[in-house]
Amino acid sequence: MSELSLARLRNDGQAFTEEISRESYLAHSGHKPVAELSPIYEKYAHVLGQDALDLTLDLFHETAKGTEEHRSARYLLEWELESQASRSLATLDEKEIALESTAYVETIDGRRVQYQAAAIEIANERDRGQRLALDAARARFVEREHGPLRLERLQREKDFIESLQIAPSYNATFEEITGISLPTLTAECSAFLSDTQSMWDDTLPRYLKTSLGIKPSEATRSDALALLRASEFDFAFPGAAMQDSVRRNISEMGLDPDVGGRIIYDVGERAGKRSRAFCAPTRVPQEVYLVLRPHGGQTDYTTLLHESGHALHFAHARDDYPFEFRWLGDSSVTESFAMLFDHRMQDAHWLLRYTELSKSRTPEFLRLAGFEELHYLRRYCAKLNYEVEAYGRNGDWHDLPDLYVDTLTRATTFQYHGADAFIDFDPRYYSTRYLRAWQLQSLINESLVSQFDVDWFRNPSAGPWLANELLSEGQRESAEEVAARVATNGNGLSFAPLVRSIEKLLES
Ligand SMILES: [Zn+2]
Repeated sequence: MSELSLARLRNDGQAFTEEISRESYLAHSGHKPVAELSPIYEKYAHVLGQDALDLTLDLFHETAKGTEEHRSARYLLEWELESQASRSLATLDEKEIALESTAYVETIDGRRVQYQAAAIEIANERDRGQRLALDAARARFVEREHGPLRLERLQREKDFIESLQIAPSYNATFEEITGISLPTLTAECSAFLSDTQSMWDDTLPRYLKTSLGIKPSEATRSDALALLRASEFDFAFPGAAMQDSVRRNISEMGLDPDVGGRIIYDVGERAGKRSRAFCAPTRVPQEVYLVLRPHGGQTDYTTLLHESGHALHFAHARDDYPFEFRWLGDSSVTESFAMLFDHRMQDAHWLLRYTELSKSRTPEFLRLAGFEELHYLRRYCAKLNYEVEAYGRNGDWHDLPDLYVDTLTRATTFQYHGADAFIDFDPRYYSTRYLRAWQLQSLINESLVSQFDVDWFRNPSAGPWLANELLSEGQRESAEEVAARVATNGNGLSFAPLVRSIEKLLES
């Protein structure tokens, strides 16, 4: 029998998670040149070994389904599997991080850009010939260098999970541990794709024509990046006002933007700092970093709102909950709070109060927001359908590029590159978390509207309700459980409210 007790696993598991999190925060915020993760894995080898796995497996099998003990066991087992897989893939990950941060891609006519910046350069490139050339160079690099690394990582992770024989297959193991039904969610995704097909066909050609001057039949994924960059609204989202606007919003909903010093805003300019805002909880709920580098534009605002939702969630979690209810659990829940905040960018009342968007330009912006929402949802639905089929193919990955191109191109109209089949792939089905979060945030929003009116975000009673009823539960509940508590009409998670909201936006 294992020497490791549940108390020690929780205690040292939390210490390990905190140290990994702090190291990542320091590296991504430019305080340290690189993240040194291996020494942390070594220091905590005792919570990442066979003993720890046996302990969590025993707990998983011996506790009764439906009890809090079983809930803890599921979360701890899932974390143990993830951590052990990450540990065995650490050298591959280090190789990938090095590749991503040092590589350059070169077009046939000699233009050289950093691989990491390629997507941004493509989105900003207004000359279509240049854009396609840059994307072709990027795809050649992915095919040669990055793709094979990721393919190896996906295969090894799948082999590792299957070798544990928790369930007959990778997909069955995921379902057994998370309680998420893949057939149910993929069926919903397929239905969403067919239900919104005519809406998509009616909307896309107009944007392609006015924005890029091209027809749907010639549009590629690099055109999608340029189209969704939507720089014509940058004036309404100045970088200098961004942080104050979001802080003012949080205050007006009756919450403290710093949560009594628990959220630390890292706004300093530093070499090596990521350009996109991110949230790094280093102790939950006591110490949560919100790192940003404001440069403005709508994407920057969306990202800051999203990360603020995560930060408020972690900083409000009950501190008497065990490790697994504060740190682990169903990530759909934390993503739903992040999305509840970032969806304010589709809310006319919010936009008029906290941005420089004028009343006369608002309908145009909302229609664009509806188009973007429809695009991202269709893309994510297709991505999940592709990933489920890929994992279900028992190790035969050779024709995945064809499946990927076919599935993603059919859903989005944009022509995808087979080279991206392994890099545009969320391991362990993180896409299910996003899709469920998307569904859940619309239920939470409906509940807030019914209690506090359409401008709930400036009602000083809304924030305390959100904090006390939802955020304080941390990561204990599943998305279904949160949905059951907040749904105003008894409905569970579904795409229906999202379809309604997209229709409304498109008719603005
Ligand atoms: Zn997120």
